[in-house]
Amino acid sequence: MIPAEFRYLCPSTVDEAVRMLVEEGEDAKVIAGGQSLVPVLRMRLAAPTALIDIGGLTELTGVRDDGDSLLIGAMTTHYEVQRDHLIHDHALLLKLVTDTVADPQVRHRGTFGGSLCHADPAGDLLAPALALDAVMIIAGPGGRREVPASEFFVGYFETALAPDEILIDVRVPKYTGWGAHYEKLNRVAQAWSIVAVAAAVQISGGTIAAARVGLTNVGSGPVRAVDVESALVGQPVSAISDAALLASSGDGYKDNLARVLTDRALTAAVAG
Ligand SMILES: Cc1cc2nc3c(=O)[nH]c(=O)nc-3n(C[C@H](O)[C@H](O)[C@H](O)COP(=O)(O)OP(=O)(O)OC[C@H]3O[C@@H](n4cnc5c(N)ncnc54)[C@H](O)[C@@H]3O)c2cc1C
Repeated sequence: MIPAEFRYLCPSTVDEAVRMLVEEGEDAKVIAGGQSLVPVLRMRLAAPTALIDIGGLTELTGVRDDGDSLLIGAMTTHYEVQRDHLIHDHALLLKLVTDTVADPQVRHRGTFGGSLCHADPAGDLLAPALALDAVMIIAGPGGRREVPASEFFVGYFETALAPDEILIDVRVPKYTGWGAHYEKLNRVAQAWSIVAVAAAVQISGGTIAAARVGLTNVGSGPVRAVDVESALVGQPVSAISDAALLASSGDGYKDNLARVLTDRALTAAVAG
């Protein structure tokens, strides 16, 4: 199907993009890589009156070192995330998760920020963003504000972004030296997750010093397995299987999957 008619606008700065969103009203939409939005437009599930294309905003691309954390530009593509050495060294989980997203064609166009803003519960980047305590840096008519991932994902395809706001950067604390793994159950290679588990673990002196665990597609948004995380702290690696039993989705079938996949994800994460 052909999308409904819309105005197409290309800002050259973030501030101009925000001004356009304000002027065009709440039926305008930002378009980033278009990998989720274009199918939605073609199926006429949405008919925005204007598309503000932020693809030309080079200030939103790339990964920067910011002391204790990384700043990942919202327009950084999945392909760039996979290959970035800062992400490899300090947020390995994000690289491993991104390796499983779609196919090379989609990864060249789709963006890190677009995935988070789209907030598809089956989207792979939401659970690691939550588990790694990422913070969203947002530009709007009132200036900049920061929203932790725990408050950003508010429901099914829904975030804390207002219609006139743009996600510009994502701050991710450094997890240097942590082991990581993403255990994704999907029907066929390159398909979306049925359930998946993102795990990062810090080992010190043979015991688990800290753990981060996020669950994909077990509810209307990502879920952090806090009970699993706290059960692991100070424990030997042999505690993983018992701790994984605490993973829960509130649904029988997915509960089982969550537990099995949490066990596998943590076991693989500690193995490096
Ligand atoms: C065939 C196929 C398979 C896929 N498989 C997977 C998969 O296995 N796992 C997975 O996680 N994803 C998958 N995806 C989705 C892919 O990861 C997309 O890249 C991602 O969901 C959206 O990113 P985008 O840059 O294309 O955003 P767009 O499609 O441009 O935008 C998506 C939404 O986010 C909003 N938005 C985008 N950027 C911003 C911003 N900076 N500020 C405010 N709002 C913004 C848009 O207005 C729109 O509502 C798949 C996509 C396709 C087409």
